[in-house]
Amino acid sequence: MSSFGQSSTPESARGVILVVEDEQAIADLLRLYLSREGFGVHVAADGEEALRAARTLHPAAIVLDVGLPLIDGTEVCRQLRGEGNWTPVLFCTARDDEVDRILGLELGADDYITKPFSPRELVARVKAVLRRSVIAAQNEAPLVMGQVRVDLVTRRVDVAGSPVALTATEFDLLAHLLSQPSRVFSRDQLLSEVWGYAAVVGTRTVDVHIAQLRAKLGDSSPIRTVRGVGYSAEPDPHE
Ligand code: CA
Repeated sequence: MSSFGQSSTPESARGVILVVEDEQAIADLLRLYLSREGFGVHVAADGEEALRAARTLHPAAIVLDVGLPLIDGTEVCRQLRGEGNWTPVLFCTARDDEVDRILGLELGADDYITKPFSPRELVARVKAVLRRSVIAAQNEAPLVMGQVRVDLVTRRVDVAGSPVALTATEFDLLAHLLSQPSRVFSRDQLLSEVWGYAAVVGTRTVDVHIAQLRAKLGDSSPIRTVRGVGYSAEPDPHE
């Protein structure tokens, strides 16, 4: 248990952000910036405390440092996903070259940011992650294409009647493609319309998430690659 692991404003209207960070100066800065935006903030300084807090506080999102005492950030995320906990996770890493490793682990990370980052940028990322999970919930009609059914209210995806677990970002990407059947989206369009900040992450992020999505949807995937352009959702992508 850390000496700085108390919640401030836990009853905040915007929900609680769980900040998992073992460097107290960074944790304090994030607490300051996030609470200014109206979020409640709970800081956990190691992996075990992070797991406890994630399970009991039901945070709106988790800002998760990769290098942590006791249990590292990737393992914290893996354990939560294994328990069916799909709280949006924004990874923080001190090393650029670790980003590929994190994405490659397919932990269901919703975004990542490399240190040093500005607190303002991190707050913008947290809001974007939250916005993506809220927008989908506002439209009520399920999206159906072939064997794939996307319920925007419950955020449940079924393939041929069986549920498929998607990360928040995979869900939003699929819902976005299905919302306009046959429209071809460029990678840049998907970045700005799904991620919400085209300039910050590269287009390979889109490719990585599309690949993960296809792997989970299997043969029923409606996602078609339009070479040199981007992606679309088609009733029969193989024709
Ligand atoms: Ca650290």
